[in-house]
Amino acid sequence: MLGFDFDDPLTKLNLIGKRRSEILSKHQIYSIRDIIYYFPRKHLDRTNITSIQNIERGNRYNIIGKIETLGEKSTRFKKIFQVIISDGTGFITLTWFNSSGFIKKLFKKGDTVAIHGKVDWYNGFVINHPEFDRLDYDENPINTGLIIPIYSLTNELRSCGIEQRAIRKIVLEALNKLNCVDDMFDKSFLVSNNLYGLKESLKQIHFPDSIEQLNKSINRLKFDEHFLFQIIMAMNKKKIKSNRTKSLKDIGPYFNKISKSLKFDLTKAQKRVVSEIHSDMKKNVCMNRLLQGDVGSGKTIVSILSASLAVGNNVQVALMVPTEILAVQHYESFIKEMEEVRITCCLLIGNMNKKERMKILDNIKNGSISIIIGTHAIIQKDVTFNNLGLVMIDEQHRFGVSQRNELINKGKSPHFLSMTATPIPRTLSITYMGDMDISIIDELPLKRKPVMTKVIEEDRLYKVYSFIKKQIEIGKQCMIVYPLIEESEKSDIAAATEGYGILKQKVFNTNDIKVGLIHGKMKSEEKKSIMHDFEKNKISILVSTTVIEVGIDVPNATIMLIEHAERFGLTQLHQLRGRVGRGEDKSYCILVNRGTSEVSLHRLSIMEKTNDGFKIADEDLALRGPGDYIGLKQSGFIKYKIANMITDGEIIKKARACAFNIIDDDPNLVNYKEAKKRLNIDYKDKFEVAKLD
Ligand code: ADP
Ligand code: MG
Repeated sequence: MLGFDFDDPLTKLNLIGKRRSEILSKHQIYSIRDIIYYFPRKHLDRTNITSIQNIERGNRYNIIGKIETLGEKSTRFKKIFQVIISDGTGFITLTWFNSSGFIKKLFKKGDTVAIHGKVDWYNGFVINHPEFDRLDYDENPINTGLIIPIYSLTNELRSCGIEQRAIRKIVLEALNKLNCVDDMFDKSFLVSNNLYGLKESLKQIHFPDSIEQLNKSINRLKFDEHFLFQIIMAMNKKKIKSNRTKSLKDIGPYFNKISKSLKFDLTKAQKRVVSEIHSDMKKNVCMNRLLQGDVGSGKTIVSILSASLAVGNNVQVALMVPTEILAVQHYESFIKEMEEVRITCCLLIGNMNKKERMKILDNIKNGSISIIIGTHAIIQKDVTFNNLGLVMIDEQHRFGVSQRNELINKGKSPHFLSMTATPIPRTLSITYMGDMDISIIDELPLKRKPVMTKVIEEDRLYKVYSFIKKQIEIGKQCMIVYPLIEESEKSDIAAATEGYGILKQKVFNTNDIKVGLIHGKMKSEEKKSIMHDFEKNKISILVSTTVIEVGIDVPNATIMLIEHAERFGLTQLHQLRGRVGRGEDKSYCILVNRGTSEVSLHRLSIMEKTNDGFKIADEDLALRGPGDYIGLKQSGFIKYKIANMITDGEIIKKARACAFNIIDDDPNLVNYKEAKKRLNIDYKDKFEVAKLD
């Protein structure tokens, strides 16, 4: 019998005609390969199914039954939608309160459904708001395995008869008639990495013989996805490393002078990181390094020292940051050290007068300014460098890849250092930023004490306010932050402005307490002057939107009060919290929880337990998914069907190690034709870019 190949069109299958193939193509399923890689959304383990006669109230069960009746009733307060199912041993009622129209359309009499939920008793067994899957359940051998695959199906797919049973049949035919499955790995590789063969895995993921075999096949298929992505990373890295550039090998006249003049000793971690950076810059290939360090770990001085090394080798340095406030602060930190040793620095931001700007641009072009600090104003077309040798970006996740590249392209293969205070969970940083070298400042300057953190409800606010008053009486300062509401920046300003009004008039309404307001839409002069007043303690309480999230350094501030804390991500809260505890005094972070769910309380309570940014990042990742991280701007970048960046830590590490080894030995993947084929399918553009010519 003539079979077919992975890349044959779907219509080769008996069950697929023109109409079905059209609808499947709308779901990005075009080929035999695509349908086989349309993995089940989950599996139902029938050994885990309980008959209704055996259930007890209070426990959770999986139940399979047929729909006997269904309907909606209205009580005085709400609408209730109910479905009664039976499995031949008894009946159970499924209930949805305030049901939407949507749920009603999902069921009809006679359908078979799989249900999961906690059983209660209310004139009979009930499950409120169960999880459910519609099955179409018969005696066909495909459907009687012990572990049933459940696929995601849309109404459109259903409309052409592609229900659970049909899709199983389609996949089974595809698997049975496939001529051969080319595995990108040979036997010895599979054995030594304890991986299942591809053919077996593809069979088992759809029609598992046992949970153990299912898990092994999932493991293998996840491995493939991480592996392919890491191959791209390994190739990128190799390519970057083949990019020749000027080696900045001298210590130069500035580095030691600045190091000696510091008022503090560098931490061990800072020293290590500076030497990692210097040893990169000494090479004649481009540095491509990510510097991670928690808020307050002292990244600025690391960037100052790195810049002084670069300038000591007669090249220019650019530092780009996401906000004007931060640019000004960095600029001030830089000139404090650079003026002594006569390195010229300038500030370049959007908000500048034309003449001043032209003069600065001239001096950047003729090379008389060595260090340029600014916002994205630095990447404007008319900014030309004389000899840009080191590019640094702070809070790099706030910028897109293209902005980064625009800055890098202003030089001839400059060294590149990216900095972030957002602690990125390790699994994420080696995927998203897997082509970078990573330096971590994993210790805080000694004097810093952990910030005491407390989650409170609204009814305790008055106590907090009187505590704030006491702190102000002894000369301390406080910041109060209002969150973004419903994504529109206008309303976060409204919230802060309104909060400011109330605090000023009703809470801190004595003459000796000065309250100030700052937000993103203010003119930069105005922002500057308010920040200045806050730094000089002319303002005791600074009310703000999240504009202060990055960069503010006022050691005299001891209280950070965050309103609607439940609306923030934990890493963001951690960043905000890092704005206090910068001086000698004990500092406090108060999180006002106005959320009602237990989840929000649980999330916030993590902040009370730890000051470790990496731990918080891991928790945040587990609770909220990777959306908040660097991926945000690049979503769609990684094509994972089954892999999961949150839970696959071990697999990622293994896949990464294998991918990097392979690219080392065989950079053009001569011995990995099948992997190449997959890369061309899944990552065509990235693969083209990453290829070594
Ligand atoms: P971040 O990593 O958040 O950018 P900064 O570079 O702003 O942190 O440093 C925070 C504060 O700690 C600054 O006031 C800085 O002067 C101070 N600092 C940095 N390194 C040290 C050190 N080794 N010892 C004492 N204080 C330090
Ligand atoms: Mg910083």
